[in-house]
Amino acid sequence: MTGRQLREGFLEYFERNGHAIVRSAPLVPAQDPTLLFTNAGMVQFKTVFLGDERRDYVRATTCQKCVRAGGKHNDLENVGRTARHHTFFEMLGNFSFGDYFKAGAIAYAWEFLTRELGLPRERLWATVYTDDDEAFGLWKTVAGLGDERILRLGEKDNFWAMGDTGPCGPCSEVHYHQGDHLPCAEVAAGRPCLGPACECDRWLEVWNLVFMQFDRNAEGRLTPLPKPSIDTGMGLERIAAVVQGVPSNFLTDLIRPLLAHVERLSGKAYGARGADDISMRVIVDHARAAAFLISDQVTPSNEWRGYVLRRIMRRAMRHGRLLGLVEPFLWAVTGTVAEEMGDIYPELVERRPLVAEIVRLEEERFAETLDRGLERIAEEIDAGADWPTMTPGGEPVATPPVAGEPAGRRRVPGRVLFTLYDTYGFPVDLAQEVLEERGFAVTAETAGEYDAEMTAQRERARAGATFGAATDEGAAAFQALATELGTVTFLGYDTQAAPARILAMVLDGRRRREAVAGDEVELILDRTPCYAESGGQIGDTGQVTGRQGRGEIVDTYFRGAGLIVHRLRVVEGGFREGEDVAVAVESERRQGLRLHHTGTHLLHAALRQVLGTHVMQAGSLVAPARLRFDFTHQRPVKDRDLETIEDLVNERVRDNIVVDPFWTELDEALKLGAMALFGEKYGKRVRVVRIGDFSTELCGGTHLDATGQIGLFKVTAEEAIAAGVRRIEAVTGNAALRHVGRAEAALREAADLLRIAPLEVPRRLGKLLEEQRLLEKQLGNLEGRLARSRAQELVGGAREIRGVAVVVARLDGLDAEALRGMADAVRERLQSGVVCLGSATDGKVSLVSAVTKDLTGRFHAGKLVQEVAKAVGGGGGGRPDLAQAGGKNAAGLDQALAGVYDWVARVAG
Ligand SMILES: [Zn+2]
Ligand SMILES: [Zn+2]
Repeated sequence: MTGRQLREGFLEYFERNGHAIVRSAPLVPAQDPTLLFTNAGMVQFKTVFLGDERRDYVRATTCQKCVRAGGKHNDLENVGRTARHHTFFEMLGNFSFGDYFKAGAIAYAWEFLTRELGLPRERLWATVYTDDDEAFGLWKTVAGLGDERILRLGEKDNFWAMGDTGPCGPCSEVHYHQGDHLPCAEVAAGRPCLGPACECDRWLEVWNLVFMQFDRNAEGRLTPLPKPSIDTGMGLERIAAVVQGVPSNFLTDLIRPLLAHVERLSGKAYGARGADDISMRVIVDHARAAAFLISDQVTPSNEWRGYVLRRIMRRAMRHGRLLGLVEPFLWAVTGTVAEEMGDIYPELVERRPLVAEIVRLEEERFAETLDRGLERIAEEIDAGADWPTMTPGGEPVATPPVAGEPAGRRRVPGRVLFTLYDTYGFPVDLAQEVLEERGFAVTAETAGEYDAEMTAQRERARAGATFGAATDEGAAAFQALATELGTVTFLGYDTQAAPARILAMVLDGRRRREAVAGDEVELILDRTPCYAESGGQIGDTGQVTGRQGRGEIVDTYFRGAGLIVHRLRVVEGGFREGEDVAVAVESERRQGLRLHHTGTHLLHAALRQVLGTHVMQAGSLVAPARLRFDFTHQRPVKDRDLETIEDLVNERVRDNIVVDPFWTELDEALKLGAMALFGEKYGKRVRVVRIGDFSTELCGGTHLDATGQIGLFKVTAEEAIAAGVRRIEAVTGNAALRHVGRAEAALREAADLLRIAPLEVPRRLGKLLEEQRLLEKQLGNLEGRLARSRAQELVGGAREIRGVAVVVARLDGLDAEALRGMADAVRERLQSGVVCLGSATDGKVSLVSAVTKDLTGRFHAGKLVQEVAKAVGGGGGGRPDLAQAGGKNAAGLDQALAGVYDWVARVAG
């Protein structure tokens, strides 16, 4: 059974049993902004389980794409080292929202595994929560398992909770007994295998059934839920490995084709060498994660989700190097991911060119970082004689780090990791991996020293630094603040000025109760009319006025999970936490943003109409005085098409269509044909911006009331920014008028210079250029004639050395090419002899030597120039009849030229 059949079979089985098949949610969780990535099937149903939302089904089944990396499920370091850890995987699940409960869940699981998949009953075992007698009894009656095959486990293994409070309940797991012939760490240590509770490969947990049964309050007391629910999860790759009888998830047909690609790229066979196998597994797993994350609009950065993606990609790139892959390769592997899974997850195909480009750029950037960092690590190791040796009784001693080194591993000082990170941006986890591979230890002491260096660094940088530094620590700090303060209400669709309360202020990485004139703080209000940068539209600026102070908002943006933050420069007096203030948006600038945002939507629609619906938005910038729109398109946009696009937009501007923003359900919006855009997050309720029947987009931005306010739309540039991605820049309103005005002024200026009418300029310029070409030709002829007479002059000045005519001259100002031409001309006239010419131009020395045909047997031009170039600190060479050299020491040129006579005399000997 293929992985594909397994995925389909699962969904079909549950559909037959009354479940709605629900599409996989994006990896960026729309409904849970505190969560890094969607990491389980239940994430998209969280509000349903909490009772905050009702759907028109009570049973659902999904195949959910999941990423686990960082946070609670920090599996990154383990991925590649084992047969079953992944950052990206697919989770099969069935869900009951207050419908069936334990009996149903157990019966479905048992029937699917034994009937649909045909797994042998005698290999299946179950675990239940220690006092869950109900589940224990059901495994006996429904599945017919004997007491000895149902294990009772404790809270750590078999109790699940959504958070510290809220829904929770016991779980029950199905384990598959692979066989006692497989290795077990417990047995190796002389203890018995722990059975289904063991970590070893003899026993595989294949399915986890969660019985959401209780609501836990803040005191930790459990009250039964009125409608208990079911949430189950089964890793697709793992169950595929069981069904296909392969010892590793990576050998299933879901992943094996990717390994094959890496085998082709590296010329190495999977399974031949342990270390290579680890690298190959890292690469294919991380390629999957990168392809899916970027397709779901995560881009590598130093913040939050982007940072995790960057770490994943960089780890894969480093393992590529371990396999000898020096050129960018990961982008190609992500292409295979799209080929393998694109029909199930169409976003992989849609975004494929973008994914390839982003990954390749990241690979090029990282190659530089890596080269510098690895060099530095080698230097640090060479200089590392004083690194402390670990005390006996510390970690058990592995192989000695360096041949001949006494046992007792040496410990890496935290300073080394810090320098690498601070100076080269070399990721700490990678540095640790490299150093550990070379046999050094990174210990808690190392981490302590590293933290101390980091703290000291922050102290040093305090004057200029803010909480907003683009680090993962900064992001985490804001994340905590967002959780504490809750959602900030955005008022800016309806108003540009409003009263608000100061909830928090952050200065120099710390919360402050007060801010005074001169401070620049990050300000969080309970409500705000200021638009925070998102969806391409940059953040608002404005003013804050309090009873004691006045300040300027210089930017507004999101931090953490959707927390609106204002960067506030306190101009006068001061502000206090809890104070009520008046907030006003800089309205002229906001008007520019509205113009260019609505302009962007018109452009997007026009592009799709003129170029085709393959045009997908790949990014955009909406600024007060310009807009930039990136989109997928393979070729440059023809001038004619560009004109049509511009005309079409301007027609819609003159139509003065009402811009109609409204809120609706996501499904409803998609039915209206709304385009879901890059970089946006969608909740259950979405905002749609409709411009007549011309454009419908999901968009949170601020827009005009009607298109006529744009006045004029003008494209200013069209260019490629990446393979398959084009960029159009444009201006609207006043900015467009100014753009046209500037072009007109330039034309008028040119016309004045030519003393003709503006519209005559192109024809006249064409004529002038033609004349210039003619003049240049005449000039070239004259120069040639001049050169010939100069050559004649030089021949006249030849000196006779042992019967050989030698011409030597210094001709400053001529470049190497002109010098070569002159040497040729001189040799031609000389009939028999040796020529050497030199010049110094802007401190650069050129030397050219030439020998007539009859003498090349005796005098080698290459050797001559090589010899004399020493005096100008350079070198060179060439043919026996013509050669050239360069140098940097212009002061030595005369000496070099004088040396020619000596050389000829010596060689003629
Ligand atoms: Zn075991
Ligand atoms: Zn928009």
